[in-house]
Amino acid sequence: LQAKMSRPVQARRLEGIDKNIWVEFVQLAATYSKVNLGQGFPDFPAPDFLQEALKRALGGGNHMLHQYTRAFGHPPLVKALAQLFEKLLGRELDPMTNVMVTVGAYQALFCCFQAFVDEGDEVIIIEPFFDCYEPMVKMAGGTPVFVPLRPKAPKDGKLMSSADWQLDPAELASKFSQRTKAIVLNSPNNPLGKVFSRGELELIAELCVKHDVLCVSDEVYEWLVYDGKEHTRIASLPGMWDRTVIIGSAGKTFSATGWKVGWTVGPDRLLQHLRTVHQNSVYHCATIAQEAVAQGFQRELTLYGKPESYFVQLPRTLQQKRDLLIQSLVAVGMKPIVPEGTYFLVADISEFKSDVPEVPNSDEPYDYRFTKWMIKNKGLAAIPLSAFYSEAHKNNYTSFIRFCFAKEEATLKAANDILQKWKKEKTS
Ligand code: PMP
Repeated sequence: LQAKMSRPVQARRLEGIDKNIWVEFVQLAATYSKVNLGQGFPDFPAPDFLQEALKRALGGGNHMLHQYTRAFGHPPLVKALAQLFEKLLGRELDPMTNVMVTVGAYQALFCCFQAFVDEGDEVIIIEPFFDCYEPMVKMAGGTPVFVPLRPKAPKDGKLMSSADWQLDPAELASKFSQRTKAIVLNSPNNPLGKVFSRGELELIAELCVKHDVLCVSDEVYEWLVYDGKEHTRIASLPGMWDRTVIIGSAGKTFSATGWKVGWTVGPDRLLQHLRTVHQNSVYHCATIAQEAVAQGFQRELTLYGKPESYFVQLPRTLQQKRDLLIQSLVAVGMKPIVPEGTYFLVADISEFKSDVPEVPNSDEPYDYRFTKWMIKNKGLAAIPLSAFYSEAHKNNYTSFIRFCFAKEEATLKAANDILQKWKKEKTS
């Protein structure tokens, strides 16, 4: 009897989406790097009040916190989220129908694409983009349509800012058609750190309204905005509440990425379909983590806008870290693009072409080669920027790499030591 299976086992929807940048570079960084500024997570502890909340939830005598809770979100958490977003959006929200808790922002995204995208639907994605949007759209049977942010060099020899990367309005408009079901917006944007201005969001909103298109608004870095910039929520623009799902993440908001608590906020008309996907896939996310995050939000609601608020303190700390890393990178001859938000920054590495050996018969882009070389030879890990582009546009953006600066001072200092030593070697 032939026991081995011979028929193909892979579903067609998985074709061409098996590669994942993180699997490869996380492994490389773990093997060779001394300082890892690659993957995006803080290496400093989550705030004390959040850790305390988790301990209280664990040992506080409410043993029911170890059991299932409401599928679409633990009641104290959806209530706290509704209260906060009522403030942020200036509209009344029903915690039970306008909020849904997910397993990280990742599952929120997955629910959106599964709920809204049919075979043949197009979804507009702005490049560079958080890499999972593309395979998630494809898994849902949709077709991603890409439109790049186009960089304009600053005139006066200053460092470039993420604000210098802009959509071409005519190009953006040309991507909308009868087939367009949704656009994914990510502001503040990973990997560039771009915070879309009100004017840019108005342009996107007008096109969404004109073509009757949904907006999946990934706002996981909503609190990480610098230099007095303001995060505008596209759902608050005319005609947008009705067609927008806002996505957030406790991982980013409270520096606890491993907890995988995320959420969606939007009209019941849209969220009802997310609930269908959610109840038929993960059902709900860990009760105890939801309870602790709820307490974190309750604290923030009482301190809202005050100097003790974590939402005020975290960006202040991160801005200093950003500036530290910028100085270190400039010293070695990289050209950082100053991010207006997020905890990432992208740096131009065009000046290093002669340092990095060519690999014969390889079509590996320069930024991949450079990053691997830097990890192995300098012990410093980053991520190549072209990983955040579609196959068709990758080759136009191969001289940049992304660093994460949500790191302890000691980690950033160790990175600086590597870069200073590198600079000496270059000049000697
Ligand atoms: N969206 C963006 C833009 C992100 O950068 C990330 C995490 N790197 C996520 C979503 C996923 O968030 P979570 O960890 O909450 O699933």
